[in-house]
Order: sequence, then structure tokens, then C-alpha cells
Amino acid sequence: MDSLKAISESDPPATGKRRIDELLEEVSENCVECGLCVSECSFLEAYGTPRSIAKSYDPSSSSSHSLPFECSLCSLCTAVCPYGVKPKELFLEMRREAIRRGAAPEKQHRALTGYEKAGTSRLLTWRGLPEGCDTVFFPGCALPGTRPGTTFDTFRKLRETIPSLGVVLDCCTKPSHDLGREEYFSATFGELKGWLLDRGVKRVLVACPNCWKVFTDYMPEVAVETVYEALPREERSVLEGVNVTIHDSCVMRFAGDAQSAVRALAGSTGAKVVEMVHSGEKTLCCGEGGAVGYVAPKLASTWGLKRAKEAGELPVVTFCAGCANHLSSRIKVCHVLDLISGPKETLEGKVRVGKSPFTYLNRLRLKARFKKEVKTAHSGERPPLPGTSGSKLKLLLGVAALVALVIGVRASGLGQYLEQERLRELIAGFGVWAPALYMLFYTLAPSLFLPGLPITIVGGILFGPVWGVIYTITSATAGACLAFLVSRYLARDWVEARLTGPRWRKLDEEVAKNGWKVVAFTRLVPLFPFNLLNYALGLTKIGFLPYAAASFVCMLPATIAYIVFSSSLLDLLRGKASLGLIAGIALVAAVSFLPAIVKKFLRRKGADETILK
Ligand code: SF4
Ligand code: SF4
Ligand code: SF4
Repeated sequence: MDSLKAISESDPPATGKRRIDELLEEVSENCVECGLCVSECSFLEAYGTPRSIAKSYDPSSSSSHSLPFECSLCSLCTAVCPYGVKPKELFLEMRREAIRRGAAPEKQHRALTGYEKAGTSRLLTWRGLPEGCDTVFFPGCALPGTRPGTTFDTFRKLRETIPSLGVVLDCCTKPSHDLGREEYFSATFGELKGWLLDRGVKRVLVACPNCWKVFTDYMPEVAVETVYEALPREERSVLEGVNVTIHDSCVMRFAGDAQSAVRALAGSTGAKVVEMVHSGEKTLCCGEGGAVGYVAPKLASTWGLKRAKEAGELPVVTFCAGCANHLSSRIKVCHVLDLISGPKETLEGKVRVGKSPFTYLNRLRLKARFKKEVKTAHSGERPPLPGTSGSKLKLLLGVAALVALVIGVRASGLGQYLEQERLRELIAGFGVWAPALYMLFYTLAPSLFLPGLPITIVGGILFGPVWGVIYTITSATAGACLAFLVSRYLARDWVEARLTGPRWRKLDEEVAKNGWKVVAFTRLVPLFPFNLLNYALGLTKIGFLPYAAASFVCMLPATIAYIVFSSSLLDLLRGKASLGLIAGIALVAAVSFLPAIVKKFLRRKGADETILK
């Protein structure tokens, strides 16, 4: 069953991920303790050479788990090491291990994970792809929040040379990546990646260095470029005679092309670019890296102080809104996108930069602006991850709507017309016609992309818990089979043309390897939309009978739960809490945990957890 997990939302997080033992061994063997990296880094100064940290790592000690959260993950050690040691990789893996063991300082990071969560919410996200779009602008979170106007202007400038440019307002979830929250990162970024690839996106233009890193490392299927490389340059002499310096983001220390492009943009204003001691590959972290400030603020501030000392009186130009924000308390700093829009005003500090909590408002306004501006062929907000607050919010709204309905029915006196027994007597009067019509409708529904849940609820109300389950599971299975047969024998080309993304290809490969188990898994864990899944499975090599049997068995638990619940729904509307209703609510709650239980079970069986996300 291990490979079943490969069909889930995303690929394993680290392309070439290596586990902690290998990394400990590698650092212990290759670090000769020359001290070069130690002299550059306050974290290593405090804790010793990478080799000594690796040698003293003890998974049973809490200090081994808190220590890596004080490393900025800036990779300066990698850049200066003459022996090719990559200590940052070890410290990141130590963070992941701390999370796996429940020993990470998660409480201290709540503000950051909350910020990230807001960035991936339906409210703040939006994806708009025009007809023929294969390139999207991904501005990230910090730039739209602090500089909505600049973000919008950047999009417009880019669109002059890329007319079908799309836009994606979302968070790359790098904070979770760096905090070692592999599972969350993989599921969240995986959803975004799947959405973009399914719609034929081939190039992503980013403005945030962290987004650049995430897309470069985890989405090798597309070309990733910075807007600084893609923007047209307009040579001017407005800042002639002015010296500026560049703060390269530590995340992009090895991205020479982007660094050169930023220098060229800054130089296009007429200003002269003067280099600091630490620049390019040897740049310093601004102090924000690795979220160190949440657990060791003093240590984090040493980076900012070093940077300020090197910059002196020179105005600093950055290409990361996060760095600009972090350094602004110490030095005169600006964003290169502001600098090219209004060179003088920017250096005079006249450009408005949004501060929290107004950054959220800015992002909302920007979303509305983009929605108005971009004519889309594909659009939408990020869907909530199964089992996350998004789906919990839906559940809460559903409960609130139900309570309002109950109050409304009681207050209006309509309850007398909603007697279950009277309704069922009325239905029985139609003989076989009522169930026959219901089943016919349900059988056709999946092929017509009609949602199954409302029909199931009607089934429970009209036919009660026993016949409701029998009619519903039979016709729901028949409907799934009909869509499967239509896809396999009648509309193969039409379906194939619509299911072109890598997720669907993976599904095909996994069915070829694991047959009915994949059908069972995807029925229990809603990784794919139900109606589309029926069509997709019709294209795979699975036999009709195993498909039908696995669908029947695995759809049964949810069918029973919703029918038992809805068969007492009229009682609820009349304000009566019957035993059937309580049982129905308990069953619905139980089936909502099924996906998590199935995933846990597969993990226990030894499956590689990262593929399940
Ligand atoms: S990644 Fe940066 S903070 Fe961490 S050890 Fe290396 S140089 Fe120090
Ligand atoms: S520079 Fe390389 S060899 Fe020297 S202490 Fe650092 S990791 Fe070890
Ligand atoms: S990495 Fe970019 S998108 Fe992600 S939180 Fe930071 S600024 Fe936002």
C-alpha cells in the first residue's frame, strides 16, 4: 500500500530528502572543525562547530530539539565551508525531527503559523488565469500586504510583455517548511502545485525570495523566475551621484542571475551600486530567517546589527518585503520595486508601506482589484484542506444555518406540515414510482456532475433509515458505475482532454499497480472530487467489477451516516431531538474522522508518511 500515498496532493517535500541519521553522519564525517563558519555565525559561536553539534545530538534530550530553532537556516555556513559541508540541511532536518517527536517550540511560533494560515485562507487567496495562460505572477504575502499598489503596478508592467499573464494570491507556506512542519507544508503547497499544473501553468514569476526557494525546490515541472529578471528596464539618471547598496536575501544567496537583475534595476535609476562586505553568495541573513526571533530574539538581532554596521549610512535596497520590514528599524532600507517606481520619493522615505494589521486589509483590497482587472478562464480561492479550519468553518456555518431553520420553522408554525410519518405515508402512496424516480435521478446525477449529498439527504427524509440506505447506496453505486462506463466506452477523448494534470497521471499509474485498493482509498479519503474521480477511474486499467465492489463497500459508511441523520431531520426542524437524530449526528461525526483514521492506519503499516499528504 505504500505507493498509494503517491497519488495524494503533493510530492514528498524534499526532492532528495535525507533523513536525520544520514545527515548527522555526513556532517560528523566531513566537518574538520576549521572554524570558518563559526566565525561568521552567532548561532555556531554559541553552540560550537557543526561537527560538535552533530556528535552531541541526542533525540531523548529536549535541548537537542530546541537548538535547531535558533539557526536562521541562512546557509552562510554552506557558502563559506571549503569542505562542502551543508550544516543548514542538518539543522532543518533536526527541526523536522523535533516536530515528529512533538518536542518543537510550536507555541512560540503560533503568531507566525497564524499569519501563514490567514495567507492560505479563502478570504485572502485568489487565483485568476486568463485564456491561454501559461505564466503566473505569484507575489506572495509580504509584498501585497505592505505594498498593494506596487504589487498591482508590477503585474501591469509584466502584462505588457506577457498578455495572458495570470495571478495567484496565496502563501507558499515557507514558514511551515522552515519550522519543520513537513506534513502541513506538503499538503498545502501540494494543493497549489496540483492546481497550477492541472491548468497548464509552465512558468511562475515570483517577487519574494522565499517563494522563489519553495517553487524552485518543490515544483521542478515549471520554470521559476523572479519579477526582477522579467521586468523591462527603463534607464534614467534621476539618482545620478547617489550611492546605494544591495542587501541580497539569504534565501537567494546562490541565485546569481536574480541578484544581477536587482543590481541592474537599481542602477537603472542612475544610482551607483556599492557592494557591502557580505553580498552575493556570502550575504547575511537580515535576522528574520528561520523565525529565530520567536525563540531567541537576541540571537536573531545579531544578524540585523551586523547588516546595519556594514551598510553604514548607505541606503539599502532589498528585493524581499520581509527583509525590508525587518531591517527598517535599524537602517534606511527600501524595496527595489518601490525604487524603480519612484526613485526620489522612495529614498526620501515618502513611499507608504503598510503595517500590520492593515496588511490584511491591503491584501483584501488587492484581491478585489485583481478580480476586477483579470478576465479569467480559470479562477477561484484556495479550497480548505480536509479536516482543517476551512472545513470546520463550513461545518459551523451548516450548524448555524440549521439552528436558524429550526427557529424559523417553530416561530412560523410550519412544523405541523413537517411530520415525518405523514410525509412517508404520502410517499408510500406512490408505490414503486417514488423510489424508482429517486434512484433514477441519483444514478444519473454523478454523470451530470450534480452533488450527491443533497440527494442523499432527500433520500433519508423520504424513505427513512432502512430503505433510504438501500435505495441510496444502490443508486449511488449505479451512478458511479454509469460515469465510469461513459468515460471508458463513450467519452474517452472528452474526459482525457480534461484530466491532463500530473495528479491524474499519478492516479492512473497507481491504479495499474494497486488496483481496487486505490479505488477504496480514494473513496474513503476525499483527495479528488467524487464526480470527476468516477470519470478518471474509467480511464484506468481497473476492471469494472472490482471498481463497483470497492465503490459500494467504501461509500457505505458515509451513506449510512447521512441517511440516519437526515431521516430524523424533520424532527429536528420541529425542535424534537429523537434518538435517531442523535445516532445520525454521532455517525456523521465518526465518518468525518475516517480520512484521518485511514491515513494513520497506512502510516502504521509503515508507509512513508510524506506521500499521504
Ligand atoms: S544556516 Fe546560517 S544561522 Fe544556521 S548555522 Fe549556518 S550560518 Fe549559522
Ligand atoms: S566551515 Fe565547514 S569544515 Fe569548517 S567548521 Fe564549518 S562546516 Fe566544519
Ligand atoms: S515566503 Fe513569501 S508567500 Fe510565504 S509567507 Fe513569506 S512572504 Fe508570504
